[in-house]
Amino acid sequence: MTTTRRDFLTAAVTAAGAAVAPDLSHAHQHDHEHQAVPSDPTLRVKALESLLVEKGLVDRAALDAVVDAYERKIGPRNGARVVARAWVDPAYKQRLLTNTTAAIAELGYSGPEGEQMLVVENTPKVHNLVVCTLCSCYPWPVLGLPPVWYKSAPYRSRAVIDPRGLLREFGLQLPDDVELRVWDSTADLRYLVLPERPPGSEGLSEEALAEWVSRDSMVGTAKVVKPTGGVPG
Ligand code: FE
Repeated sequence: MTTTRRDFLTAAVTAAGAAVAPDLSHAHQHDHEHQAVPSDPTLRVKALESLLVEKGLVDRAALDAVVDAYERKIGPRNGARVVARAWVDPAYKQRLLTNTTAAIAELGYSGPEGEQMLVVENTPKVHNLVVCTLCSCYPWPVLGLPPVWYKSAPYRSRAVIDPRGLLREFGLQLPDDVELRVWDSTADLRYLVLPERPPGSEGLSEEALAEWVSRDSMVGTAKVVKPTGGVPG
């Protein structure tokens, strides 16, 4: 069983490499992917996972539970609560800006991929955008798992080469007089954008405000706007 599965995975990776290789020159002409087989990283992850499970080092159910927790239960809602607290409590906001990791931990959010955090504040004259140019570093305790686009090569390169153009594609047109700051997340330091509190949110409770805060606004690819339909507030 062990040998069979390993042989299968090895063959799958080799076959995938052969299938993808002839298409590489074509891929250079496009941002999007055409490959019909799972991507090389996907196959590698599956192979690693299978080996770890076979060796009894990890439990597949435990892995699924971790992914589910970060993807859906934790998600970006923790970050939204941090932002909402900062909007209604100036003293908390000050602590958040000066000692981010501790201030986030005050709300109970800490752990792997969030050991060292820095909040960067948007203002009418400054907009912040977060990227990980090297890979996909992202603050799990407050934002959950990174979306696919955050990990994509086009996002990671264009956030540096043409950040204003990139934001336009996200539907965010920054005025020329707004300074755009791009922050490169690493395994040692991860960023959370504190978006501006939007017009029309006056008088809302902290909980209602948190409902307005989107994941993308905390990465910097969007602003917080009044929700349309379905969301309280
Ligand atoms: Fe990274």
